[in-house]
Amino acid sequence: MTDPILIVGAGQAGIKAAETLRQKGYDGDLVLFGDEAFLPYQRPPLSKAYLKGEMDEERLFLRPEAYFETASVELRTRTSVASIDPAARSIALSNGTRMPYSSLLLATGTRARQIPLEGATLDGVFSLRTMADVAAIRETLAGAENVVILGGGYIGMEFAAVAAGLGKTVTVIEACHRVMERSVAPEISTYFQKLHRAHGVTLRLEQKVERLTGDTTVTGVALGDGSQIPADLVLLAVGAVPVTGLAENAGLAVGNGIAVDAYARTSAPGIYAAGDCTEFPSARYGRTIRLESVQNAIDQARIVAGSMLGETTAYDPVPWFWSDQYDAKLQIAGLSSGYDRTELEGDYDEGRFALKYFLGDRLLAVDTVNAPREHMMARKTLAQTGPDSNGTREAAA
Ligand SMILES: Cc1cc2nc3c(=O)[nH]c(=O)nc-3n(C[C@H](O)[C@H](O)[C@H](O)COP(=O)(O)OP(=O)(O)OC[C@H]3O[C@@H](n4cnc5c(N)ncnc54)[C@H](O)[C@@H]3O)c2cc1C
Repeated sequence: MTDPILIVGAGQAGIKAAETLRQKGYDGDLVLFGDEAFLPYQRPPLSKAYLKGEMDEERLFLRPEAYFETASVELRTRTSVASIDPAARSIALSNGTRMPYSSLLLATGTRARQIPLEGATLDGVFSLRTMADVAAIRETLAGAENVVILGGGYIGMEFAAVAAGLGKTVTVIEACHRVMERSVAPEISTYFQKLHRAHGVTLRLEQKVERLTGDTTVTGVALGDGSQIPADLVLLAVGAVPVTGLAENAGLAVGNGIAVDAYARTSAPGIYAAGDCTEFPSARYGRTIRLESVQNAIDQARIVAGSMLGETTAYDPVPWFWSDQYDAKLQIAGLSSGYDRTELEGDYDEGRFALKYFLGDRLLAVDTVNAPREHMMARKTLAQTGPDSNGTREAAA
């Protein structure tokens, strides 16, 4: 009997790979390990509709419970894979059980970045990555008056929008001179800064956090300029790091993520990786990139399932992403790093526009606000543009 295909990580990439293996006709044993307590679920609503309480748990789940039996996918939740033995082609669970594999997929995702900050372990200080995080946040958020968010990236700004909508006094502290600086142009940052300020959010830009204050529970945030901001809830929204420990300990090549080729193969025979945890070569951008997006998790998972079954389709996506803040939907197609000019189309003041990023004559990326048609058109246009060999674009997460 052939050994099973094992998938480590029951998130967006893990479930899509399992489903695709079955759709492509794989009829051997298939086990999906997840160390969380839930059915595989989507994370984007955790900082949007689900956080607001506008979406129930059932809709968060990527597949209903019945799916796993119907598709013969053995889902093992609350089960952590502790190590891999590539030579023996086996894994060990945290309880010591060993299991052989024919192929192994690492879809371990990212975890919230932790920063060395005095007071970061006080009660009332949270990160936002999992359903368990949201459960804990909700309890404190309900009674909180002052909410302080460290980090003006997508998750921080989405959380700010939800907290402001709940009537909280919200402050965002950002080290850079504008929000979402790593991935969007000043025009987009300015638009969203204005929007947040119009909803009463205070933005403290170019600010360094000295420490969080409080005895057992957080009561404030001390900034580098000497000011103190009262806080009943602090969200650490300072980015995410790929979960690569299993791969590293097994001797696999790891850079800014588990290193895979265009077919999602790692440096060890029979071991593959997909989703947020991977760094992959992009012919389109002429460099290796790591993405944190639903698009990447789904599309790379489809490729990896094919690779496991002997197909040779290379992965080279046009990345896309979205962020919802108040009634503004930001959609991003392509990666804009390295652009030398932008062009605005539509009505900026009315909040319905597209911002195109160019390098010379070449269209690199398009950000749209409340313009879904233009976003879809941009994805089509970018897909028709050939691979980029100048390697000037950075990956945006
Ligand atoms: C709050 C939030 C909002 C987001 N919003 C957007 C958005 O608007 N648009 C967008 O495109 N993307 C968004 N994202 C990103 C998107 O959710 C991720 O890119 C996507 O979930 C990646 O899927 P993945 O399967 O690679 O990893 P994950 O979904 O993180 O799944 C990995 C799973 O593996 C498990 N795991 C790790 N190690 C082990 C182990 N050793 N044993 C067993 N299990 C293990 C983890 O616990 C986790 O459950 C958001 C993310 C967050 C957190």
